[in-house]
Amino acid sequence: MAAAISYDVLVAGAGIVGAACALEFARSGLAVAIVEPAEVGGGATAAGMGHLAVMDDSPAQFALTSYSQALWSDLSAELPRDVEYLPCGSLWIAADEMEMDEVRRKHGYYTARGIAAEILDECALADAEPNLRPGMIGGLLLARDSVIYPPCAARHFVAEARKHGASLFQGRRVMKAEKGAAWLDDGTRLIAGKTVFATGTAAGATFRGLNVQPRKGHLLITDRYPGFVNHQLIELGYLKSAHSLQTDSVAFNVQPRKTGQLLIGSSRQYGVDDPAIEAAMMSNMLRRAIEYMPALRGVSAIRGWTGFRAATPDKLPLIGPYPDAEGVYLATGHEGLGISTSLATAKLLADLLLNRQSAIPLEPYAPTRNFAHA
Ligand SMILES: Cc1cc2nc3c(=O)[nH]c(=O)nc-3n(C[C@H](O)[C@H](O)[C@H](O)COP(=O)(O)OP(=O)(O)OC[C@H]3O[C@@H](n4cnc5c(N)ncnc54)[C@H](O)[C@@H]3O)c2cc1C
Repeated sequence: MAAAISYDVLVAGAGIVGAACALEFARSGLAVAIVEPAEVGGGATAAGMGHLAVMDDSPAQFALTSYSQALWSDLSAELPRDVEYLPCGSLWIAADEMEMDEVRRKHGYYTARGIAAEILDECALADAEPNLRPGMIGGLLLARDSVIYPPCAARHFVAEARKHGASLFQGRRVMKAEKGAAWLDDGTRLIAGKTVFATGTAAGATFRGLNVQPRKGHLLITDRYPGFVNHQLIELGYLKSAHSLQTDSVAFNVQPRKTGQLLIGSSRQYGVDDPAIEAAMMSNMLRRAIEYMPALRGVSAIRGWTGFRAATPDKLPLIGPYPDAEGVYLATGHEGLGISTSLATAKLLADLLLNRQSAIPLEPYAPTRNFAHA
């Protein structure tokens, strides 16, 4: 454990969001303490797919994801090998004419905002991804989307933050914080001007009135099949599944890993807190994957797992001051985009702590709006 000194900012939680914040704060010259009860990058971050995507659900989601993608792209050259950065692009698959209309709408949206996007017709799609079921109508290629291995990125960020002077208190949990101090579960009082809670789904239980719900997801990884899939492939129906706030859902979502493995997703469930793999959910998810890509029937799976996304009612993260305690900040509620948006979250919070002008407006992510929902 590091020597007891005073810190400008304490970061509770060393998932990808806390780790990115710690690094950004330390690089900006702040004295940083990181407190993590378990493994660095071991929470939702270890369970996530690591798809770095620009999304267009809302102007605020687009602003955050596109800002963050540019930051990932700038950082990519300095990421260590084990982060497995793969600039494979995303392909949104249209199975029918209605989904093809959505491809055209998205194409217009992205290109009008300077994001490279290309419409593929049936032939071009089949050439790009020969293992897709024949007869898919087309797709949208977002060539600048990419993929990483999230837990190694979190570990890298914490290691870099420590090189910039940050202290890591591992095996400890933040119990309480206020302006000037935070208390750990062993009774230690740390002097910290500000505390940022990047505690993922745990934030829902820590802050009274905060509406952050765990949203369970299943994933499965296969043996190595280099070239089987060339892009992150997502059915356009995924958007319906991601938007549903009540019903359990599965969607075709397959990712090529740098190792040649295939990561197969994904499912979404509310109201479940048992992390056990559910056979019915896993088999629904695989059935959907095989519908889109029949050759998956022949691949060997190595491991399946589950994780919990921290979901907010309006599907935007909570980034900014906690309204009921001065000096306390939130960085949670990133649902299925926390890997993608971690770097932008870190920049926005650093801007806030240091009174810097932000690259995008902060207001849409202000935690105050979430308390109104509670
Ligand atoms: C199946 C699945 C697929 C996903 N796919 C993607 C994807 O492709 N792309 C994408 O961008 N996102 C994806 N996500 C979402 C992404 O994984 C999360 O949004 C992201 O990992 C959240 O990171 P975090 O740091 O906020 O939370 P976590 O990684 O959960 O970290 C929170 C940390 O806080 C610690 N903690 C808890 N309480 C305390 C306390 N009191 N004091 C100190 N520390 C504490 C925990 O131990 C934990 O390490 C996916 C998620 C799932 C479940």
